[in-house]
Amino acid sequence: MTVPFLDLRVRDPEEKAALLAATERVLDHGRLVMGPEVEELETAVAARCGRKYAVGVSSGTGALFMAVRALGLDKGDDVITTSMSWIATANGIAVNGPAPVFADIRDDLNIDPASVERLITPKTKAILPVHFSGRVSPMEPLLEIAKRHGIPVIEDAAQAFGAKRRGRQAGNFGLMGCFSMNAMKMLAGCGDGGMVVTDDPDLRDKLVSLRYNGTINKEDCHTPSLNGRLDTLQAALLLERLKRVDRRIERRRAVGFFYNEALAGVGDLILPTEGPDDFHSYYAYTLRTPRRDALMAHLTAAGIESKVYHPILMPRHTAYRESARGEWSHADRCVAEILCLPCNETLSQEDVERVAAAVTGFFR
Ligand SMILES: *Cc1c(COP(=O)(O)O)cnc(C)c1O
Repeated sequence: MTVPFLDLRVRDPEEKAALLAATERVLDHGRLVMGPEVEELETAVAARCGRKYAVGVSSGTGALFMAVRALGLDKGDDVITTSMSWIATANGIAVNGPAPVFADIRDDLNIDPASVERLITPKTKAILPVHFSGRVSPMEPLLEIAKRHGIPVIEDAAQAFGAKRRGRQAGNFGLMGCFSMNAMKMLAGCGDGGMVVTDDPDLRDKLVSLRYNGTINKEDCHTPSLNGRLDTLQAALLLERLKRVDRRIERRRAVGFFYNEALAGVGDLILPTEGPDDFHSYYAYTLRTPRRDALMAHLTAAGIESKVYHPILMPRHTAYRESARGEWSHADRCVAEILCLPCNETLSQEDVERVAAAVTGFFR
């Protein structure tokens, strides 16, 4: 029996029945495009994040694209982001024209404010931190830097729905917060989806326009954009998932805490323990060890799936490496050491114990 990294089958009969009933309701009312469930989800997510507005979009990548677009940035502008993330973060900036400038990271794998400070120039028009693995970035210093330079912060909270720092929800800190609700994320649909949250009514109106070809009143195009609406069907499923998301987060945290305890002091591991100000959602349990590849092979041989999220630093992707600017020497060291253990609500206690025992066994 293998321990899967993530199993997306819906095996809880109560949840499955609720998702099927939600599907049936949408098929029956027939408002498949921008039906009432989209606004219902927007209202619920805005409330959850302590925000005035939320705009449902078709993916987390779309959320980032539209948030950067809504700032009206262009070629010649720079946006400082982290070097360690899924490439969607850099793409959301670059496809709009501005260049991503890649900052180094700290030991918690989040963007380093000192690196951001060093990289700021008059061309810097925004800072875009990523809450990596479900742990909120150091927002206090980042917001202070942004304020001092008069530039906005956009949060890539794709991995951090429900994560908190000093009691404040991810997505509550920046001018805009971007979520992914794809099938693998914490608040997950059964396909692609995303959301941008903000308190600014003008930005909200811009985002609504940008998600439908840049049109006003769905007719006249003011800014070329893409079609990036959230499906009614997906919104209906997400409303059901939202009811269950805190249970999911609690279960992941419990698995994360179990690993933290079981693996404390084992070998040369650096564990993703929670700081006193953090509420880590453990979207991913990302540990570090210089013997990463050997540990991964050991786990595979023991029937345990593990993954490297994400094996290529953003500035080292083919599309970026020629032109990438910034600094990422610590990120280079970290990316060779990171490994994600299975950490989710479908694992049994036996699975979790088996994973911990296999990791401990490797270092013994
Ligand atoms: C998943 C993810 C995205 C992109 O979201 P999609 O919904 O897959 O387009 C962006 N940034 C980060 C950090 C992510 O993990």
